[in-house]
Amino acid sequence: MRENVIMECTSCKSRNYMTAMETKGGRKLEMMKFCKKERKHTLHRARKK
Ligand SMILES: [Zn+2]
Repeated sequence: MRENVIMECTSCKSRNYMTAMETKGGRKLEMMKFCKKERKHTLHRARKK
């Protein structure tokens, strides 16, 4: 099932992206994304609403 999640920067806690992704059980929902606030790529973690 696809769900809308918020991608939150693990470094500065800024919520940078909204995206739809598969959220099947136990998957790690982390990925490298560009943080506008820090102006570099950081690890972002998916947060459900
Ligand atoms: Zn950041």
